[in-house]
Amino acid sequence: MMFSHYWVPRCSLLARFSSVSPQGDYSSLIPDPGLRFASSLIPLFLGRWCVLGCTWGNLLKATLIAVRYSTVRKQFGEDREGEETSVIEYQTQQVRLFPYVAAIYVYKTTLYSVTNALSDINNAMAESEDCSELITEWHILMSGFKPLLTWLAVAGVQECREACGGHGYLYASALGEIKEDNDSMVTLEGDNNVLTQQTSKFLTYIYKTHGGPNVGPIHPNSARIDSPMNSYYYLTQPDERVKLASFQDLNVSNILSIYSFLVRYLIRKTIATYETNLSKGLDKFTAHNESQVYVARTLALVYSERYVIETFWTKLASRETSTPLKLVLTELCLLYSVWSLEKYLPYLYESEYFTSGEPVKLIQDSVLHLCRKLKPNILSLIEVEAPPDFIVNSILGSSSGLVYKELQSAFYQYPATFEIDPEWKAMLGKSNL
Ligand SMILES: Cc1cc2nc3c(=O)[nH]c(=O)nc-3n(C[C@H](O)[C@H](O)[C@H](O)COP(=O)(O)OP(=O)(O)OC[C@H]3O[C@@H](n4cnc5c(N)ncnc54)[C@H](O)[C@@H]3O)c2cc1C
Repeated sequence: MMFSHYWVPRCSLLARFSSVSPQGDYSSLIPDPGLRFASSLIPLFLGRWCVLGCTWGNLLKATLIAVRYSTVRKQFGEDREGEETSVIEYQTQQVRLFPYVAAIYVYKTTLYSVTNALSDINNAMAESEDCSELITEWHILMSGFKPLLTWLAVAGVQECREACGGHGYLYASALGEIKEDNDSMVTLEGDNNVLTQQTSKFLTYIYKTHGGPNVGPIHPNSARIDSPMNSYYYLTQPDERVKLASFQDLNVSNILSIYSFLVRYLIRKTIATYETNLSKGLDKFTAHNESQVYVARTLALVYSERYVIETFWTKLASRETSTPLKLVLTELCLLYSVWSLEKYLPYLYESEYFTSGEPVKLIQDSVLHLCRKLKPNILSLIEVEAPPDFIVNSILGSSSGLVYKELQSAFYQYPATFEIDPEWKAMLGKSNL
């Protein structure tokens, strides 16, 4: 719909919170400008929050289908005459799928955390309480978390489709439909690349206001920064280097410490790049624009990923859980953390946080080791979260595990499967064969 020079009567004003009188005077039900701004942002918050739930659901369905199919599908084996191996036994299949199973668990806790915060915002606003700090933090966190999860899910759903081979391409696998629905999530409710700029701008602002305008290490005695969701308390803490020499060193606490360093390092790099751009004579808009790739955009993603890992880890530590379950959940958290950290290795070498090749070997060995350890439980782990069959609606991923029976039945039920095309004679006539 397009309007051009179209007169809209005053009574049609979308005036939920504010209005303009026939004399042109502005009035509002919410006199405080901060609260008024927050009230108009809430509907946008809800949309972004819904996107995250849908995206998580898409990743869950795709991962469930791929893991279930991979346990049934057999290909090759040591002995040509003997039984073939389920494809889930292959190292490549494990490393392609298990980090997404881990992500399902790790992200779920953050989804609860942002949901609770949103509910706190709504309650505070209903009581006309000032919750502007919480709204700001929720917004900057979601502006990083939404790109992080939606890009992860796009990559994950594609990996799941490939992990199911040619059958994954079938309409009845449901993976095509999941892919189609999931793809738009990176764009709707705010394009990911644009959203990350909100997060990185805020982080550099907070860093500057707490650490002074100079680019360099923050004052080591600076106190932690308190905020309603505790997502950036570590920005003022001094850089500590953890030494990665053995598997024991590669634990979640140490990984969080590395992530904290990365966030601080990328903030400094973002500020330095922007200021270098200005000193070269670029205007502010261009200086900002040319400090995104490898710099500000990465900062937003690393900050959000750190929050996701810490939220799960803190929750796990605070819950009374049986020892075997805690062990498996720790392995899942570690797998997601180590697998994610691998993406940022160039920054860890660029910053000279790592100076030898040892940590790379350790991180890669750890991914393989954790996948091997998780394999016996992986089907149960994903099935705990499985929606009912009618929702998954996939011949490859039904709870019966009868993939080939379902496949046959789908073929048989497809309209006109056993009918000859009435045009077949005409087609033969046109053939050059
Ligand atoms: C399936 C679907 C449903 C939708 N539903 C709704 C709806 O119900 N209501 C509604 O109002 N809208 C809706 N939208 C619109 C959606 O919010 C916008 O598409 C989205 O915000 C991106 O804006 P755009 O399309 O104008 O992209 P553009 O702004 O034109 O972006 C195009 C490209 O340019 C890049 N770009 C743009 N600006 C910058 C920048 N500053 N820095 C770096 N890169 C930049 C983007 O990254 C993107 O790759 C929907 C979109 C989709 C795909």
